[in-house]
Amino acid sequence: MKEILALDIDDTSLGYGEQFIEYVNEIMGLNISRESFISYDLDISFGCTPQQARDLVNNFNNLYLERIEPIEGAVEGIKTLKDRYSLVNVTSRPADLDDRTRNYMERRFPGCFSATYLVKKEAPGLSKGEFCQKIGARILVDDFVGNLDDCGRLGISAYLFGNWPFSRFEHDSDLREKYHFIQRARDWSELVEKLMA
Ligand SMILES: [Mg+2]
Repeated sequence: MKEILALDIDDTSLGYGEQFIEYVNEIMGLNISRESFISYDLDISFGCTPQQARDLVNNFNNLYLERIEPIEGAVEGIKTLKDRYSLVNVTSRPADLDDRTRNYMERRFPGCFSATYLVKKEAPGLSKGEFCQKIGARILVDDFVGNLDDCGRLGISAYLFGNWPFSRFEHDSDLREKYHFIQRARDWSELVEKLMA
């Protein structure tokens, strides 16, 4: 039986962040770059109120959720990984995006995923790591380091994807120690190389 590999969706398989920044710049007349994304809390990264941040996300999701392009290398990479692993999507997207998320992932990556889980819907209150444990996934790939927090404790292999400012920890010795179990994959070719080794 194939090992279960859990992939985050946004900014791991799909380029949500880049496209969301473009949208925010257009709507708010800003000129922020991905380097401004210092916090996963958007009001901090964008200098707006929490309510404005929520509105921006909701409006972007309503308009563009089905137009977010896969990250470079993701389509080929996922096809390659599928030969060795049983792939599942594990996302923190809001529960009400369930059908849209499933349908879109099937359309962009036909036949590649055996399941798509919205943790907030399937198991509210569980962390991604805890949810992976529950479904028997042995590996989790995610761009947000906070989602990998308890993988070490739970014995789940953790791969930090990409290189967003809010997920960097190498500069801080306390964080380096805390996240000693995390492996990095800055892009899809690196991720595939490591997971197929
Ligand atoms: Mg993500």
